[in-house]
Amino acid sequence: MTSRCNPYGYGTDAGPKHLMGGMYGPEYAGKQTLLASGTHGPAVCTNRATHRARLICVFDHKGPIMDLCDSCWGVIQARMSDCCTACVWPAEARELNEAIDRIQPRISEAIWHGDTATSGRLQAQVMDLGRQMDELRFRGIIRKVPLKLVEVS
Ligand SMILES: [Zn+2]
Ligand SMILES: [Zn+2]
Repeated sequence: MTSRCNPYGYGTDAGPKHLMGGMYGPEYAGKQTLLASGTHGPAVCTNRATHRARLICVFDHKGPIMDLCDSCWGVIQARMSDCCTACVWPAEARELNEAIDRIQPRISEAIWHGDTATSGRLQAQVMDLGRQMDELRFRGIIRKVPLKLVEVS
């Protein structure tokens, strides 16, 4: 095999939007470019690929096929395979999360203005949304499912 190691499909037009089921943009992937040890992370690998692999979960969510070198194979298996993002972030959960994100700044604003009535009301809304999130987890709509890095031919 002569292709270059290409974790997350960086060499393709699709780009890193595959990362985390498309939920996070390239700026998130940027965090992967430097490992704690100071060596470059999988996002900027220049090694020759020795594996063709993809991440899959038991509910049949499949990540893009990636050309990987031995070291990225190891890194992804160890760090990226802990849970399937598509399973953890179904549409319902994203909506709740976005609603919480919209309310949070309004709480800070209300607190800033000393408007305890509004901040209290908004905080109650966030609590309620949080409970709905727990409910999704409880009903198994939000699933924490490990991903497996599997070799493809
Ligand atoms: Zn690599
Ligand atoms: Zn899944």
